[in-house]
Amino acid sequence: MSFARGRELVLTPGPSVMPDRVLRAMQRPAPNIYEGELVEITDSILRDLGRLAGTAGETALYVSNGHGVWEAALSNLFGPGDAIVALASGTFGHGWADTGRVMGLDVEVLEFGRHAPVDPRALSERLKEDTAHRIKGILVVHADTSSSVRNDVPRLRQAIDDVGHPALLLVDCIASFCCDVYEMDDWGVDVTVTACQKGLMTPPGLAYVMFNGKAAAIARANPVRSPYWNWSPRTQPERFYERFCGTAPTHLLYAQREALDMIAEEGRAAIFKRHALLARAVWAAVVAWSSDGPLRCNIEDPEFRSHAVTTILADPHDMLQLRRWCEDEAGLILGLGLGFLVPEFMEGKSVFRIGHMGHLNPPMLLGALATIDSGLKALDIPHGRGAVEAAAVVTATIS
Ligand SMILES: *Cc1c(COP(=O)(O)O)cnc(C)c1O
Repeated sequence: MSFARGRELVLTPGPSVMPDRVLRAMQRPAPNIYEGELVEITDSILRDLGRLAGTAGETALYVSNGHGVWEAALSNLFGPGDAIVALASGTFGHGWADTGRVMGLDVEVLEFGRHAPVDPRALSERLKEDTAHRIKGILVVHADTSSSVRNDVPRLRQAIDDVGHPALLLVDCIASFCCDVYEMDDWGVDVTVTACQKGLMTPPGLAYVMFNGKAAAIARANPVRSPYWNWSPRTQPERFYERFCGTAPTHLLYAQREALDMIAEEGRAAIFKRHALLARAVWAAVVAWSSDGPLRCNIEDPEFRSHAVTTILADPHDMLQLRRWCEDEAGLILGLGLGFLVPEFMEGKSVFRIGHMGHLNPPMLLGALATIDSGLKALDIPHGRGAVEAAAVVTATIS
């Protein structure tokens, strides 16, 4: 018998929970796509996005998912044979590197495994060897959604500056945007990529690239930019449709505008606080579970854990069964063990993820943790007691 009635709760790390207000904002007829309100809405979205990223640079909007803006950023700045270094602490770091490789870039991956952040000293050491300054860009994922690690971007900038290397710093903030504190200009980031379906609470299909003056100048000098990814017409359009290289994604713009209104009402600082608190509630539950049994957070040091998603290891238990139980019996959808597809982790089956990004409050999260706790009991997976209590103690500190 299944109790999966009521509203289904999707806590995968994206697409995140879509607020009713955002869904309702799309219930409109087709607009004029050449002039009027849509132009103003788009301008305001770009302005707000830049502000949320903490940049005075430019923002280009793409009808795309996150993979698209990986390619957009690379294709504006680099050409075949150009050397870049990708810092990998999870699947998404490798994904961005692979995109560059297929584009013909000379990609070198510095590998930091699945359980730890990128080490800034290793970057310094590598850049020191590059006395001819062949390396043109450094790619890093702020919060890698597979491992749930959060990398220390200011320390990476410092590592680049310490050796006086001119390479651009490109950061993937797709999972962390509006979840983890991010200050593009203050942190010395040259290019930021993000997408709408995670902390930005909008159905998938819009993605953004923010870039500063240094990156803009390098892109202008690039002779082989692709017509679709070229960010110049998108940021300096002569006609409105150049913002999208074609038809505007009309209803996603309505949705994104509404989500940004919700973000403005709550405030950036409050959003970061809420995500930090909800993340700590998840970690407190995992600590309680871990007191008697296999469950533990993949990233040991809380300093390097994302506030948007938590990856949980349960070697050697089959967490696919737990995810199935939560989904089929209770209507809770959890994330799978992405990036752990090796026998050591039962081909990913001993790993699961809880997404805690975007439109989420304590009853949703505490309900999810209690449901997981029930699943562990129903399936006889060993676990310590008191996880929900421990999470409630954390959420009690809201003030
Ligand atoms: C989700 C995600 C991506 C990929 O985004 P898609 O929209 O699925 O293409 C890339 N990087 C990170 C860190 C992500 O979380």
